[in-house]
Amino acid sequence: MKQVNTKINNLGRNGIPWNETFVVPDNEDPKIAIQRQLDEFNRIERQRYGENAQIRILVEICNEDQEDQIACEFEKSGMEGIYDVYQCKRCKLVFKRFGLSGPPRTKLCHPERVCIPCNKEFISIQNALKHKTIHSRDKYGKTRLVGEDMK
Ligand SMILES: [Zn+2]
Ligand SMILES: [Zn+2]
Repeated sequence: MKQVNTKINNLGRNGIPWNETFVVPDNEDPKIAIQRQLDEFNRIERQRYGENAQIRILVEICNEDQEDQIACEFEKSGMEGIYDVYQCKRCKLVFKRFGLSGPPRTKLCHPERVCIPCNKEFISIQNALKHKTIHSRDKYGKTRLVGEDMK
């Protein structure tokens, strides 16, 4: 179990968010674990107070793993037609951008959530692992591209 600091607010009250610490299992995505606890809180709150329930919402997670705070570091890796192709040095995600817009600047880097052959990032490590089992069935250990199994 680990402690995760968050900012929480009441839905629709525009108040100043306050700090709240949640305890979540090590092997679970903090966002999902915290949302589940909030859902449970909100369910009981609604049962008790009906329309006057103070529904809690997660504003942000303050101390996720350090990895989660690092932004992607894009390098131009080539051109595709009129698009510039950028790849993150760390998680290997590829973005195509038109002309002068440049690579995404504030994309947070989550290498452990990325499936490289699919060029896709998942919302949690668990989802990424679940997804990657489809690749483990590929012949000769080759990576399979999306749609290739339809041939
Ligand atoms: Zn990245
Ligand atoms: Zn994949």
